[in-house]
Amino acid sequence: MAEAEEKDRRFWAKIDVDYFDNSKIDELSDAGQLLHLGLILKAKKQQKGGVLSARLCKARGDAALKELMDGDLIHKMDARTYQLHDYGKHQTDDANISETRSKIGQKGAHKTNHENRQIYVEICGHCQQAASDGEEWLKHAELGP
Ligand SMILES: [Zn+2]
Repeated sequence: MAEAEEKDRRFWAKIDVDYFDNSKIDELSDAGQLLHLGLILKAKKQQKGGVLSARLCKARGDAALKELMDGDLIHKMDARTYQLHDYGKHQTDDANISETRSKIGQKGAHKTNHENRQIYVEICGHCQQAASDGEEWLKHAELGP
């Protein structure tokens, strides 16, 4: 019975059954896919709202990380910190503080990577919000990946 008790305390990440059918995932190399899945699990375990250290993100080499960045699956926040794209939208961290932090982080990543560079990314919740609010920057924006 001790085993069942232990099982209940583990963290679980949500991966939907269409994960590999998502074109953004399908385009990745095996290393890229493995890195992405691994980072989702790490992020869940760490409960920091999808914020990850550069060291973890480079665990499978710079090329795999670059794929995720090019695919807009992860955003670089600074030299030592990365943010998984839309983490808070798909995963639920247990503490509310993590959720709040995650929202701030994602908003920051959106501002840096989308709004400031005038790139509209269809799957970004903040870009979608900006579109429905008719924000000025979108009039000059390019369609992102
Ligand atoms: Zn955005």
